[in-house]
Parts: sequence; structure tokens; C-alpha cells
Amino acid sequence: MTKRYLGLDLGGTYIKIAVIEEAPDGVRPTVVYSDKVRTGGAAGPEHVLDRLIAQGLKAFDLHGPFVGVGIGVPGLFDQATGSIELLPNLPGPWEGFLLRDPIGDGLGMPATMINDARAFTLAEGTVGAGRGASVMLGVTLGTGIGGGIMIDGKLHLGAFGFAGEFGHQTVDPTGPICGCGNRGCLEAVAKGSTIAAAAGVKNAEAAYAAAAAGDQGAIEATESAAFFMAIAIANVVTVVGVDTVVLGGGIMSAGDQVLQPLEAALAKRLTLVSAQEVTLVKAALGGHAGAIGAALAARVAGQTRSR
Ligand SMILES: [Zn+2]
Repeated sequence: MTKRYLGLDLGGTYIKIAVIEEAPDGVRPTVVYSDKVRTGGAAGPEHVLDRLIAQGLKAFDLHGPFVGVGIGVPGLFDQATGSIELLPNLPGPWEGFLLRDPIGDGLGMPATMINDARAFTLAEGTVGAGRGASVMLGVTLGTGIGGGIMIDGKLHLGAFGFAGEFGHQTVDPTGPICGCGNRGCLEAVAKGSTIAAAAGVKNAEAAYAAAAAGDQGAIEATESAAFFMAIAIANVVTVVGVDTVVLGGGIMSAGDQVLQPLEAALAKRLTLVSAQEVTLVKAALGGHAGAIGAALAARVAGQTRSR
């Protein structure tokens, strides 16, 4: 029986589900199922937990059995206990809420947790736009700015398990206070709502559309975001030796309007000592990248267990 893994991606609006299947050569798994339902976050953590388990059981009936389940979460969690520390985009008493083990028990399989931006990175680096990269930086541009690093096909989580917080590096020491408490994080100066507010429109997508139509305020807002994004990318490229940057998230629906100014701004930041060749590419897996990455995290955990 070919090994299959389940991924559940908990988002502020949707729970996304993916099932992946190990390839015969053991190299690149394939996606055999994906689905999504509304999170129903307003009803609180217990309700969301029930919905996650119900979706897992449905996927099991359709495509099981699974070796394990991966759960992608849009925030911080405790690796040891599998409990939530911070979920800024979901209402209710999430702090300290045990999520991993109840899902594992409810589905009768080993469960593992992964941050949603790291799940995105793992998915794009394994089966998406970054596959084959030596060192890949994944970046999600949306409500917040997330990220992750893959080195030689493996997610790099660092000494404490949460390396890759691309959006929380300082790029403007005198800039605004970020949601994390630091001053001048990339996220504070380049997230969607910052771009929209500076352009005087309702969201970042509208800002890019207005910039394309020649609106001066929108051009300045999007160029400012590109300026700071380029600093952040160049910093990581210089220190870690990235060859491929995969950009995803809601703002990337503006596509080349985001990519081209960013490439131009990045070119000014890269020198002989940083990198000769860095490729910026759009994510390839669409809205289910996080769920696919969560399933891939379960696969990595399964491989670790069987060693
Ligand atoms: Zn921050």
C-alpha cells in the first residue's frame, strides 16, 4: 500500500485539506485530494477543533488510511506540548489550547504541527516552484508577512524550532512598532494593510491596480513596500546564500506588478559579495500550498520516526 499523509491547514477564514501520496521513487509525492471548508472561527477553539477532526475523518473515508496528519497553524505554538501560544487571526481563548494531540487521538494517527508559512515553504520547495533549489527562501505576502528557509530539500527550523520568521527582521530602525513588539519589522512597513493605507485604498491588490493605472500615491506606496522587501530578501540572500525566492500569499495575485519592482529594487541591493544569481518566482501551488505543506510535514515526521 502506498503511503498517504493528511494535511489540515487552519486559516482565519478556511480550513484547507490535502492528501498526498508517496511517489514510487520516494522523491516527489503527489497530491491526490484537496478541499476546503469555512473555519467557523467565531464559535471558538472547541468548535474549530471539532471541524478539523470532522474534515480529517471525511478525508480518511475518501482516501485513507494515512501514516500521519500534519496541522498547519497561522501563529505560534509549543512544539513540546502541541498547544497554541498565539493565533492573532482567530477569535477566542486560543492561548494554551491543546490542538495537536486531540486531533491525533481523534483521527487515530500520529500528528505534527507546523507554522503555516513554513508549510507553504515546505510545499513549494518540495513539489512547487522552488523544487530543485539548493537554498530556497519562501515568502508569504498577505495580512502578515511569513517565511521559511529550505536548505538542500529540508526545512530549516533552527535551534528552537521556529526559524524563518522573515517578516520580523528589522528593516527600518526608526519605523513603526510591529505586532510582535519590535520596531521597524518588514511586516510593519510592507504588509498588505500598510500598503493599502499609504495608497488610500481598501487593500493591497487595489493599491497595485491603482499604481498600474498611474496613481502617484499608490506608486509610492507599492515602491516603498518593494524597497523594504528588497532589503529583507538581500539580507537573507547575503547571509544564507539563497538561490531561489518563492513568493506567495494574497498580494501575489497582483503578480508581475509585485515581482518586477521587487526585482529592480533587489538588483540594487545585491553585490559581488552577496550573490550572482537569485531567481524570484511566483508560487506554483495556489491556495492549498499550506495544506500540502502540512501533509509533507507529517511525511517528514514519519520518516524521522521510522529511522
Ligand atoms: Zn515584528
